[in-house]
Amino acid sequence: MKTAGRPVPQVSQNELQAMAYRDPLTGLGNRYRLRDKVRLIAAERADDPAPFTIGIVNLDGFKPINDLFGSQAGDDILCQVAHRLKACIPDGATVTRHDGDEFAFLLPLVFEKTSAERLGQMIKEVLSAPYDLGDRNVRLSASFGFAVYPFAGEEFEELLKSAETALYRSKRRGRGQITVYSREIAQEMKRSTQLEQALRNAIIADSVEVHFQPIVRIRDASVVGFEALARWNDADLGFVSPAVFVPLAEERGFIDALSDTLLRKAAEAALSWPRELFLSFNLSSAQLMDPGTAATILATLGRVGLDPARLELEITETAVMTSADTAERIIAELRQSGVRISLDDFGTGQSSLGRLRDFTFDKVKIDRAFISRITTDRASEHIVKAIIAMCDGLDLQVVAEGIEEWADAEKLKTLGCAMGQGYYYGRPVDAAATLRYLQTHHRDFMPAQETA
Ligand code: C2E
Ligand code: MG
Ligand code: MG
Repeated sequence: MKTAGRPVPQVSQNELQAMAYRDPLTGLGNRYRLRDKVRLIAAERADDPAPFTIGIVNLDGFKPINDLFGSQAGDDILCQVAHRLKACIPDGATVTRHDGDEFAFLLPLVFEKTSAERLGQMIKEVLSAPYDLGDRNVRLSASFGFAVYPFAGEEFEELLKSAETALYRSKRRGRGQITVYSREIAQEMKRSTQLEQALRNAIIADSVEVHFQPIVRIRDASVVGFEALARWNDADLGFVSPAVFVPLAEERGFIDALSDTLLRKAAEAALSWPRELFLSFNLSSAQLMDPGTAATILATLGRVGLDPARLELEITETAVMTSADTAERIIAELRQSGVRISLDDFGTGQSSLGRLRDFTFDKVKIDRAFISRITTDRASEHIVKAIIAMCDGLDLQVVAEGIEEWADAEKLKTLGCAMGQGYYYGRPVDAAATLRYLQTHHRDFMPAQETA
């Protein structure tokens, strides 16, 4: 083929070079641009190794928006993000776009964690304003990971990997989080991944157990129910507290599987207790955001054969706050089936009194923090007194948590607190030991000659 007549459009070496460094959608530089800039600044600062920072930002929930409104809308948003980032980054900084909804910056004048966090906060606010899609507006939050040179890596690849680790941690913690890489964070990520694997295996092997702690009527110390508390003893990791592994299961998205196993085991154990004793079971906050929770719980009870009227679910104020509408629906559905709801750790959450009015609860559990100081600290005593009076007025039952001493119990008795729980009455023990506890502490379990 002859081309001599008409000249083929020539792309100059410079233009080719520019294309290789440019993201065609947004016009920003791409990963190679960031790499070169980082290498350049590292070389410039070789003699005077002043720190600088790179950051990655990833939009939260971008994919569903792309799927829902189409890729044109998605592209529009990405261009608007690029525009905002360019406008708000400090002078001398570079912003690039990597894959999909991931952008990065090089910040030559950010030297340490606090400045990185402050800048992240500012960019986060800029990105949180609504995006105009012509016929509608959408809002998105963004997660951030920062890495400071040379602590987080001396080579570009290592530095970027550190920023990705920090971003990954932000994503794991929910939306709109900002993390600056540190060795501790890397260690923590590694440990929790090991823990996650071990816990997933333990659930499959059915080796996460439930212990039970008595809840008593303070007046005569008679047992009225038990709280189920998760227990996990790993062969390698040893004893792991539920305060560690429950939040981990929430964060890594398998709290349903864990909670299901625990509820099944707890309900099976409760079948051998006297019928009037209730089972109190902790629900995690993630479960109160999942509209399927009520159905799952009722199905488990149905399979085991435990009457829903014997179940109480403990939820926290924070859990109720995070997703109020869904939580309200779940609570209503469960209460309709006869399940009762207790507000756990009362007094430590974000809101207190307003929640008591807006939500329908049956019981309030006063947090251990107040009970442990009730005999030594007048303020704690007054707070407990006020909570009890308020619950009386609102027709709510009250349980004091964390009763460790005889004197605590006596004080609570004089304050008119009906129920209590704590080491003074009994520590959490396994199902078999719970039956032995009932033999000595519950009239229905008394040997015949003693009751006669
Ligand atoms: P929580 O629901 O407030 O449970 C009470 C915690 O206080 C338990 O800790 C219990 O062992 C401890 N405790 C009870 N009496 C006393 C006392 O007199 N003194 C002291 N110092 N502590 C006392 P545990 O078992 O380590 O559980 C910690 C938290 O983990 C629980 O707090 C609950 O939020 C969560 N958790 C435990 N099991 C489950 C579960 O099956 N599902 C969910 N979602 N969360 C659970
Ligand atoms: Mg509890
Ligand atoms: Mg509690």
